[in-house]
Parts: sequence; structure tokens; C-alpha cells
Amino acid sequence: MLRSILLAAGRSPLARTVVERTPATRYVVRRFVAGDTLDDAITATTALADDGLRITLDHLGEDTTDREQADATVDAYVRLLDRLRTANLAQAAEVSLKLSAVGQFLGSDGQRIALDNARRVCEAAAAAGTTVTLDMEDHTTTDSTLEVLRELRTDWPWVGAVLQAYLRRTEADCRDLAGPGSRVRLCKGAYKEPSSVAFQSRHEVDRAYVRCLDVLMSGEGYPMVATHDPRLVAITARLAGDNNRARDSYEYQMLYGIRPEEQLRLAGEGNTMRVYLPYGDEWYGYFMRRLAERPANVGFFLRALATK
Ligand code: FAD
Repeated sequence: MLRSILLAAGRSPLARTVVERTPATRYVVRRFVAGDTLDDAITATTALADDGLRITLDHLGEDTTDREQADATVDAYVRLLDRLRTANLAQAAEVSLKLSAVGQFLGSDGQRIALDNARRVCEAAAAAGTTVTLDMEDHTTTDSTLEVLRELRTDWPWVGAVLQAYLRRTEADCRDLAGPGSRVRLCKGAYKEPSSVAFQSRHEVDRAYVRCLDVLMSGEGYPMVATHDPRLVAITARLAGDNNRARDSYEYQMLYGIRPEEQLRLAGEGNTMRVYLPYGDEWYGYFMRRLAERPANVGFFLRALATK
């Protein structure tokens, strides 16, 4: 119930105004977001890399409705990738891209605009010597995002994508994307979806995640296991053993600010551990999804409101 309310508020302009104008919000947001600027992002990336972690950077923004904003987002990614190169961070850090931020919703031409814009980001990533992973948004965008992925991979086979275990279709998508060179980030899924397309209970989603993980870990691609769930982390280690996977043939991923001590523990054991690091001033939608995932975060937010 609370999850549905928070996810609905994440799409409401009125709720956005209220949350953004609350002075204590910034304090809570900083737990999950590196900061507003490129310099903030580079500072946080450097600190994570110094701790032996890998990073995937997200320039915050989604659901763009005008062309100029989509182009500005692409420019921000190009600047980011250039800074990663000049700061010698391209080995440790890649980028994550939401197609809705680069034009996917711009009318009937949206998919083509998003593809052209994603190409510019991939060119900049190739020049920097790093990779791009396409985030996955609500289920109405899945086909379009996977189509863009297919197009991009003909030029840049290292482009990866997120699959969401809560969608009923995802086990089949995992099979399609378990081939050599394929990079798939498997997560549970963060949007409010109808039962016609998505499993609803935690238990069903967790079981679907294990089925998808099994497909990816026994396949020939590079699974990126994006979860904070201790049970799924343990199952990943078991599946790696069962499938004789070397430690460099898959990786763990978690969000910035969530279970940081576990991130360091996994990296300290010799695993590749990548932290999803968002930055920029368009943090509202991202922040509301993090609140929705865990009721305790709402308590943290309310306590900050009371004390700041
Ligand atoms: P859960 O069962 O939700 O959580 C397990 C445990 O992790 C909890 O008990 C708690 O201890 C901790 N935890 C989880 N979430 C939080 C939180 N917000 N605050 C504090 N503690 C928490 N979703 C998409 O739909 N599309 C994407 O493209 C996408 N990309 C992602 C990329 C990465 C690298 C990661 C890690 C997640 C991504 N997600 C994405 C979000 C994902 O779908 C889940 O909503 C999120 O990861 C929570 O699920 P969980 O697997 O951690 O399991």
C-alpha cells in the first residue's frame, strides 16, 4: 500500500513540488545521490574506486518531454565520459543510461531519437574506453529498449541492459540475452506494474529472480547481479560454483548508499562489486523509488524532517 502511494507520488508534479521544497529532503537525498554536479560525481567515483569498488554512473533525469532537454542529457553524458577518461577512471567506471531521458517518449519518433542519442553516448564511451548499460523503466518501454539494445550492439557489442525479474516475460528475455558477450544486469524491478505483466508478491518475485539468475549464470554472457538481498547474493555464489564461473565472468551490483558495508565485504573477497551512482539535480523520481523499496527509509526521511 505504502509502496503504491510512494510510486504514484513519484509521478505527481504536486508531490514533487512539496518534497523538493522541504528543506530536510536534501539531507536524505544525499544518502542515495552523489550530488548535483559533475565534480560531485567525480569526487564520489574516486572515493569508491579507492575502496576497490567499480562504479556505474547515472546522470539523473527521466521521462523527458522536449528535444532540448534530451540533447542536454546527451551532452552531460559526453562531458561525464570525457572526465572519466581524463581522470583515469574509465577502467573503474562505466555509465547507465535511461532511454526516456534521451527522447524515448518524444512522440512517434521517440525510439529513433533515443537510438540516435544513445549512439552518441556509446561513441563517447568507446572513446573513453568504457561501457554503457541501458536502464529498464516501466513495462511499456521494454520492447523499445530491447530493440534499441539490439541496434546498438551491432556496433558496440559491449552495450548492456537491465532486465527486471518481476516481469513475467523476463525469463524468456534472459534466455535470448544469455549468449556470448551479452551483459545483462538483473534486478527485481522498481516500478508499479499490473499483475497482467508482473508478479506481485515478494515471494513470487524472489523465485522469478532465482530462475532468471540460473539462466544467466549457466549461459555464456556476463551476468551483473543487481540486488541487496542477502539470500540472492548467496545463491549467486553457489551458482557461480555450480557453473564453474571464474570471478571475473560475472559481477555484483548495488545502489549507492544501500548496504555499503556489504559492498566492501564482497569486493574484499575478490569479487567485482559495482556501485550504481546517480548524480544531478533531477533526483526526484529516483529518490521516490528508493523510499518505496523500503518503509524504513520513510521513517529515516520523517526523522530528518523533524530534526533538521
Ligand atoms: P529487496 O528485497 O527490495 O531488498 C533486500 C534488502 O536490501 C532489504 O531488506 C534492505 O536491507 C536492502 N534494501 C533494498 N532496497 C533498499 C532501499 N531502497 N533502502 C535501504 N535498503 C534497501 N530497477 C528497475 O526497475 N530498473 C533498473 O534499471 C534498475 N537498475 C538497478 C541497478 C542496480 C545496480 C540496482 C542494485 C538496482 C536497480 N534497480 C532497477 C532497482 C531494483 O529493481 C530494486 O528495486 C532494488 O534493487 C531493491 O531490490 P533488492 O533486490 O535489493 O531486494
